[in-house]
Amino acid sequence: MIRVIMLSPPGAGKGTHGRWLTLQTGARHISAGDILRAEVARGSDLGQQVAAYTERGDLVPDELIFRILAPEVVAAARHTGGYVLDGFPRTMPQALRAAQFGADLALTSNAVVYLTAPEQELVSRLLDRARRDGRSDDTLGVIRHRLGVFATETAPLVDYYRDRGILVELSTDRPEAEVQADLLAWFQGRGLIQPLAAESRPDSAEPAAER
Ligand code: AMP
Repeated sequence: MIRVIMLSPPGAGKGTHGRWLTLQTGARHISAGDILRAEVARGSDLGQQVAAYTERGDLVPDELIFRILAPEVVAAARHTGGYVLDGFPRTMPQALRAAQFGADLALTSNAVVYLTAPEQELVSRLLDRARRDGRSDDTLGVIRHRLGVFATETAPLVDYYRDRGILVELSTDRPEAEVQADLLAWFQGRGLIQPLAAESRPDSAEPAAER
């Protein structure tokens, strides 16, 4: 079963392609951002603490992230045997702690998908999404800040996972179907998705919904 980390700057397509991977495999999609937004919407004390960071486009402190996400990952892995982690880990301390946690529970990630697109394209996709979904952190100033946070805090994880031999890097500056064909080929090449099972699924040719 796939246990995947989607590691990409905002707007590169980790939500879109992450959800598509879950359709192919039955693994559970766990979006850190969605879980945090749900906590904020509940208006709990925890949600109020989280909102102070997400509104500015800053990362939520690691302690809060682990408290909120760890139970979700464990539950997903127990129920389906797999997960697609969308937006976690995002810092080196998160990655190291997640690796330890994964090893302890035999839930270690077996693939990391690093999606890229030119910065102008990322900004324009996020502004499009703002018009569609009205996310409060999709304003130009906060988008630029989030891209800066990715470059300083999250980008170092690319080499960390590349060195571990589990990273696939793909440009999403092209049609979704091409990205998905490359993803499928990579996962099949690693024996993480079975060719026939994947191709016989009726939804395999459908483009995933835009975020
Ligand atoms: P996303 O939906 O992935 O763009 O995440 C939205 C926001 O949630 C980010 O800008 C951060 O403020 C926060 N966030 C999501 N995932 C994490 C994480 N792993 N660590 C810290 N903050 C996070």
